Amino acid sequence: MITLALSKGRIFEETLPLLAAAGIVPNENPESSRKLIIGTNRDDVRLIIIRATDVPTYVQHGAADMGVAGKDVLMEHGGDGLYQPIDLNIAKCRMMVATPVGFDYEAAVRRGSRLRVATKYTKTARLHFAAKGVHIDLIKLYGSMELAPLVGLSDIIVDLVSTGSTLKANNLVAVETICEISSRLVVNQASLKLKHDMMQPIIEAFKGAALSS
Ligand code: ATP
Ligand code: MG
Repeated sequence: MITLALSKGRIFEETLPLLAAAGIVPNENPESSRKLIIGTNRDDVRLIIIRATDVPTYVQHGAADMGVAGKDVLMEHGGDGLYQPIDLNIAKCRMMVATPVGFDYEAAVRRGSRLRVATKYTKTARLHFAAKGVHIDLIKLYGSMELAPLVGLSDIIVDLVSTGSTLKANNLVAVETICEISSRLVVNQASLKLKHDMMQPIIEAFKGAALSS
């Protein structure tokens, strides 16, 4: 049996065509089903539906043989014990620094001001500002980072940006790209050895489908 870990929403939706390329069709839609384990048309493949941030943990411990996780999630997790064979080129966005409109970010950085940074991505933010030599106070949040500067919780935020419409709606502007984000296939290394004959064709199918998309 192969267990593949996915999160609901865009990762599930954008992984469906890759699964199809591997001849795998889920029996249920996790949006409407309450089941956390979803069977497929193949007796030897099942899906588990978990929070995006938990995918690397399940795969690392071998509770899932493989999974799909954003680079943002993998940077925070550290990727320990995970083999990352493919960039799937799905769920693309950017990790960015954003500030209130009118905030002079460049000047603040030049002055060497201490910046209060609100983010869910504390490790990524710490590394980014350390590399720039900027001193920060980190404020860990679990969502809706855009609110923090509006109510004086932070000066700036680090968050994922795709269209920028949420920033715009809240009078914020992206001022710096930290990195490009897409989702990766992550594989448990022991599983790959033990179940190589079952897993390799799936990895190859994902690779082919990711390249042609
Ligand atoms: P939740 O929204 O349930 O708190 P989450 O934000 O971790 O959890 P998703 O919103 O489904 O989960 O995001 C999953 C992954 O998709 C992220 O880890 C990231 O790689 C990518 N992603 C997030 N936001 C966007 C976006 N606006 N456009 C494209 N990809 C995105
Ligand atoms: Mg989200």
